[in-house]
Amino acid sequence: MFQIPCPHCGLRNVAEFRHAGEQRRRPDPQTATPEEWRTYLYTQANDAGWTRETWYHRFGCRRFVGVQRHTVTNEVRPADTGPAPSVASPPAGIDAGAPDAGGGAM
Ligand SMILES: [Zn+2]
Repeated sequence: MFQIPCPHCGLRNVAEFRHAGEQRRRPDPQTATPEEWRTYLYTQANDAGWTRETWYHRFGCRRFVGVQRHTVTNEVRPADTGPAPSVASPPAGIDAGAPDAGGGAM
């Protein structure tokens, strides 16, 4: 078990949250190819180390929370804390800029 810092509720147990996935940019629906959509929907970088993730505080404020998490040690820090983690190169055609707003399918 580890704890996640919710900007609305404070430091809470991870059991109150649901993992919503790695943060990444959604491809442009006007120009994305089916391959780009497939990669966006079903492929995760799954890096060992620091990643940017979105968690849903389902038993708290019911908001999406962005954090940085070390996938090996489960150390968690707010998304805006410290240096940005190294992000693996996204698949071709996927922009790794700002993260998705978190309004995706749940
Ligand atoms: Zn919360």
